[in-house]
Amino acid sequence: MKIATSSGLLAQAFDAETFRKQGHQLVDSLAHYFAQVKEGQDIPPFTHYSPDELAAYWQQKLSEGPQENIEALIEEVIQQNIHTPHPKYMGHQVAAPLPINALADFLGSALNSGLGVYEMGSPIVAMENVVIQNTAKILGYDAQADGVLTSGGTLGNLTALLTARHIQLPDDVWKNGLNPTIQPAIMVSEAAHYCIDRAVRVMGWGDAGIIKVPADDNYKLRHDLLPQYYAEAQAAGKTVIAVVGNACSTSTGSYDDLHAIADFCELHHLWMHVDGAHGASVAFSEKYRSLIKGIERADSVVLDFHKMLLTSALSTALIYKRGSDAYRTFAQQASYLWADDQEPEWHNLGKRTFECTKTAMSLRIFMIWRVYGASIFEEYVTTTYDLGQRLGEMLTESNDFELPLLPQSNIVCFRYVPDASLDFTQLNQINRQIRQDIITEGAFYIVQTQLAETLYLRVTLMSPFTTEQHLQALLDKIREVGQKLWAKGHTS
Ligand SMILES: *Cc1c(COP(=O)(O)O)cnc(C)c1O
Repeated sequence: MKIATSSGLLAQAFDAETFRKQGHQLVDSLAHYFAQVKEGQDIPPFTHYSPDELAAYWQQKLSEGPQENIEALIEEVIQQNIHTPHPKYMGHQVAAPLPINALADFLGSALNSGLGVYEMGSPIVAMENVVIQNTAKILGYDAQADGVLTSGGTLGNLTALLTARHIQLPDDVWKNGLNPTIQPAIMVSEAAHYCIDRAVRVMGWGDAGIIKVPADDNYKLRHDLLPQYYAEAQAAGKTVIAVVGNACSTSTGSYDDLHAIADFCELHHLWMHVDGAHGASVAFSEKYRSLIKGIERADSVVLDFHKMLLTSALSTALIYKRGSDAYRTFAQQASYLWADDQEPEWHNLGKRTFECTKTAMSLRIFMIWRVYGASIFEEYVTTTYDLGQRLGEMLTESNDFELPLLPQSNIVCFRYVPDASLDFTQLNQINRQIRQDIITEGAFYIVQTQLAETLYLRVTLMSPFTTEQHLQALLDKIREVGQKLWAKGHTS
């Protein structure tokens, strides 16, 4: 066996001086970007390019051959990408990560801590334990609670339901597979995130496995209907194992009554899981934490740091009321990873996560917490939720906007109704076109959602730099664009 001769390329790629130079370029570009984006003057929050156009553009770059200077690449990526810290970014629930988060990721990537096993990233694993313990406490759990960080709310919810399945079902599904005589099911509000439905189907339970309970006028779970739906499920031969509460729902930001769900679950010995991907973060806010009253009674909770806690994706906490439950999710042996695969060792995280290797998420969260304290989370959550309430008031006071519900969070849905004579279809068309025109122009970045058949504009106030003036400017812009569309009578 002859070892290939080195061209020196690898040595060149690891050259410390090149790294220093490129690193300085990156930091300078990002520092300039951070200074500029929060002003919201010289760059739009969003620039539209067609997917094919961008794919061809980057293919062309690659075809040009290796290029050591990365300055142009950095600038182009920043320019083409969406800008979540921009005060006129009001779109999906994606955080504007703190600059310190970017530095933590930089460090984490450089060290590439593996994390499936303790030895592959010892400080990162220890920090994960600290982050989870402190978060559990803030949620109101006692010292028995424990959990893990995992790659997203979708995976966190699936993992929690896998744990519930293992603990609640009489059979050992892990070992024997699904028993065909048992139809397991969970109950959840119809307003739940689609990933709950997906998790049920991934587990092989099909249509019958997900029982969608109606939501009320404020898009909260009708917990008064739980007994009826439960009785119907039982009569149909289903084994209900869990109820999932929303804290809050994605479309409208509605919080379910968690105490009511907990009472029901206790009565029937069901697993209570809370999907707090977006809104469990109010635990950090003195002003808004009452929205999640009762969360400490849940058997498991998912919370995305990358939604409302200023962290980049993905950074999800999955916390169990009884930490020992986490070890029952994947009752699996892997002797090449863990010397003792039977022991509940907190420091071998792969025993409790779906992932084997995972990103150094704890480093980002720990770094933010260490540098600014939990006060930064409190300040951010409180400010953005305040803005949501304020926008709700402004819309209520106006006579040309309509709200499907008063906002409980920083997620606000509404539609523009310039004239009472417009019919349902015309209003849907106008509002759809308003959104399209506004983002094409680059004036604001907002999204839309459909509730029943009605199309609503939807904003999530995510930027720490959005103020009441920006909200006013948004409403003015919608009126301006909407009036033009209405005048033209051309709405598609
Ligand atoms: C965003 C969200 C999810 C999905 O989380 P990811 O981190 O995007 O996988 C699940 N549930 C709710 C309520 C959410 O808002």
